[in-house]
This record gives sequence, structure tokens and C-alpha cells, in this order.
Amino acid sequence: MQRKTFIKLSSAFAAAPLFSNFHFMEQQEKLQNWAGNLTFSTSNVFYPKTVSEVQSLVKKSEKLRGLGTRHCFNSIADSKFNLVSSNSLNNILSLDTVNKTVTVEGGIKYGELAPYLDKKGFALHNLASLPHISVAGSITTATHGSGVKNGNLSTQVRALEIVIADGSLLKLSKEKDGELFNGAVVGLGAMGFITQLTLAVEPSFSMRQQVFVKLPLDQLKDHFMEIVSAGYSVSLFTDWQSDAINEVWIKDKVNPEIEYRGMSEFYGAKAAIKDLHPIIELSAENCTPQMGKPGPWYERLPHFKMGFTPSSGKELQSEYFVPQRNAVEAILAIQKMGKQIGPHLFITEIRTIAADQLWLSPCRNQDSVTIHFTWKQEWDEVKKLLPLIEKELAPFHARPHWGKLFTMSAPVLESRYEKLADFRKLAANYDPKGKFRNEFLNGTIY
Ligand SMILES: Cc1cc2nc3c(=O)[nH]c(=O)nc-3n(C[C@H](O)[C@H](O)[C@H](O)COP(=O)(O)OP(=O)(O)OC[C@H]3O[C@@H](n4cnc5c(N)ncnc54)[C@H](O)[C@@H]3O)c2cc1C
Repeated sequence: MQRKTFIKLSSAFAAAPLFSNFHFMEQQEKLQNWAGNLTFSTSNVFYPKTVSEVQSLVKKSEKLRGLGTRHCFNSIADSKFNLVSSNSLNNILSLDTVNKTVTVEGGIKYGELAPYLDKKGFALHNLASLPHISVAGSITTATHGSGVKNGNLSTQVRALEIVIADGSLLKLSKEKDGELFNGAVVGLGAMGFITQLTLAVEPSFSMRQQVFVKLPLDQLKDHFMEIVSAGYSVSLFTDWQSDAINEVWIKDKVNPEIEYRGMSEFYGAKAAIKDLHPIIELSAENCTPQMGKPGPWYERLPHFKMGFTPSSGKELQSEYFVPQRNAVEAILAIQKMGKQIGPHLFITEIRTIAADQLWLSPCRNQDSVTIHFTWKQEWDEVKKLLPLIEKELAPFHARPHWGKLFTMSAPVLESRYEKLADFRKLAANYDPKGKFRNEFLNGTIY
């Protein structure tokens, strides 16, 4: 028998008797990721409802992988063997109003957590562009929003509970575990299955956002830091097709002591006269309110409304992090590629993220700027463009977003993420046989 056939038969055979008494397994059509560009390699998907169900599943499996809300664009969440979904582990467990933390199960979505926190008078310091992603799946890939002083969402984590390969519970906290904690938070699913997280919260705040159109590139060149520091969270949207940034979104905290007037102009860009979509031709119906209208933090930090649930997206995404000090050079390097990129791109977003200490965070030890690409679903063309973009950004030691599409080789990643070797040792302490590893991890970090 050929080796490939043997592996296929033996793994399929192994799955059935071993797991037949797990009532929370759903044998079904193979799942796809949100974008529909990836079909998961197994139809063995488990939906445990309790930590002990996760523990017995992990103990009995030889290979498995945690699964969140399937919003990654590459195969980081894939498994050929078994997927353990956090879908039914999505409760809010406790709110500590004295120490300002909330403890949740890993499967809760930001869109479910945020209104609860706001009702209790609290907020998270930042959110990603959409609220439909799970907390565990987001923090394990260093998902981020924007803001020169805002760390990514992983920096909110104060404690973690993980079911490790032998089925036992590993509890880590920022306060007690120092570097071990810094290594484990952005764990790419390799540390084990995250069942619980404690996140830092702060008093709730109101925000407003104003959008400006056509910011001349010359202004960006000369005033980059002033522009991205003009609000609590700033995003620049461009299609690289002119010598201007298409839109600048400035999100700021409301200061009740100062009368709000808004600005008619911003570094040569004109204030929008109605709500806009990042792609200016599209309807802004599903975008969060703009035009300086005040509202709660969780209805202004994301660009898209909570109630708007895109079931799937006909798009692909890539994103690269460069040090803030190289932002202008990096942006101009991509601007030069405008003609090549244009036909395959919906829109680019440029954001800033504050430095952190987390080992596999793309923002480790560097205040960062991200250049993000929302591509049309034209993978054959996009996969030819990515190495060219990566070459342009190589002088700035660009680090890719772990959950989006990139083509950098393992040695390149090793040179950009200085703590990769330490991370491998750390993960091996808790998962010596690579139970939680998959092909993506084998190809990128192992
Ligand atoms: C429309 C759209 C907008 C986006 N906007 C942003 C943005 O603004 N900023 C940004 O940084 N990213 C953004 N992303 C990317 C996305 O947020 C991240 O890729 C994130 O990791 C997705 O989380 P998820 O819950 O869907 O995880 P999944 O894709 O399901 O899994 C991601 C990883 O987490 C692991 N995992 C999931 N749950 C667990 C668990 N309980 N225990 C252990 N490991 C687990 C998986 O094994 C996998 O490695 C966007 C994606 C989409 C589709």
C-alpha cells in the first residue's frame, strides 16, 4: 500500500471508534473559513460545552486543533484530524470591578462581550475592524485595531487557562508568570486549547469619528506621525491609484468639557459630507456612524456595525507590520507598485499599533505600522504579487499577520520573529509530541 493511502485510511479509521462516545462531535460536511478560500481538511468537528469535555477530548486525541470563528485567511486553524470548536464555550464568567478585569470563555465574540461590558460601565481599550471574531482566536494571532498608543488585542490579556496536551489545565497570569506568559499569549494555537481568558477593562467611554477624503501623499510624507496621532485610533484607506490617500478615518474619545466643532479640512484632505464606506463607491449603510456623531466605544472603534454580520466575504487579506520609523518609506515602496496591485485590490488600510512584549506578536519591541490589503478573490494573481510586496518591504524587516495570507519562508520568519526558537521550546514543554501542531505550523515555525 502506498504510504499516503495508508495514512489516509488509518487516520479515518482511528477517528470513529475513539470518539464515537463523544456526544459533542458533529460529523458533517467539511467547514469552510469565513472567506470561503479554505475548506478545512477534516469533517471531525467537536463542540465541547465544558472544560472537562475539552480535557477528555484532548487526552484521548493524538492530533487536534482549536477552532474559533474561522476568520483567518490561511490554513493556521486547519487540521487533517480533529477540530475543537470554541463555539459552545462562550460565556462571560466574572467581572472584577476592583481590579478592572473580565473573565470569559475563549469562544465569546467581541460583539457579544462589548455591550455587556458597556452596560456595566466598562470598555476594552480597542477592537478590530469587525466584532464577529472570537476572543481566543483573535489573541492567539495578535489581532489588532489602530492607535499609536494602543497595543494589539493580545495586550488586553491578564490571565489564560489552557488545556495542554496531557489534558491538564495550565493557568498563567501576567502578574505571576512574566516571560512564560509573554511567550504563551500569542500562541498560534500551539500551546493547547484556550478555555478561559482574563482581559483588562477600563471605564467605558464615548467616541466619535470623522472621515476626510483625498489626503495628498506629500502631506503624508511630511506629517505621517502627526496624521496618525490626530485621534485615539486613525485608519488610512488607499487604493494606490492616485497621489492621495482616499480616506482618513479619525476616531476620538468624546471630551464632554470641550465643545465639538469638527474640522473642515485635515492636512489638505476635505471633511466628508456624509457617512462613507472605506471603498468610497459602496454604501455606508453597514458602517459605524461618522460625521462626529457621538456613540459608545464599541459602536465607533470597529468600522462595521455589530448588527451587520457578513456571513462570508468574497475577499482575501494580507497584512504586513513595519516599524513606525519606516512607515513613509514602506508606504512609498508600495505606492510604486500601484499599477500592478490595483487590478486585484479592493482597498488597503494603514494602521498603527503600539509596541508590546509578547514573543510572537508582530509588534514585539516595536511601535508598528501595518499595511493591509483586502484583495479580490483572485488567488492565482495575488500569490504572485505577495512575494513582490514582501521583497519591497524586506528592508524594513516586515512581519506578516499570522492569520492572513503571506508567502515568506520559514527562515525569513525566523529572522523577523526573534523569539521563535524560544517559543518552540516553550510549546514543546507543554506539547512534546506536537499534538496541537498542524501543517501550517510545520511549514512556518517548525
Ligand atoms: C472581515 C475580516 C476582518 C478582519 N479584521 C481584522 C482586523 O481588524 N485586525 C486584525 O488584526 N485581524 C483582522 N482579521 C483577521 C482575524 O481577526 C484573525 O485572523 C483572528 O485570528 C480570527 O479569529 P477567529 O476566532 O476567527 O480564529 P480562527 O480563524 O478560527 O483561528 C485562528 C487561530 O486561533 C486558534 N484558536 C482558535 N480558538 C482557539 C482556542 N480556543 N484555543 C487555542 N487556539 C485557538 C486556531 O487554531 C488558529 O490557529 C479580520 C478577518 C476578517 C475575515
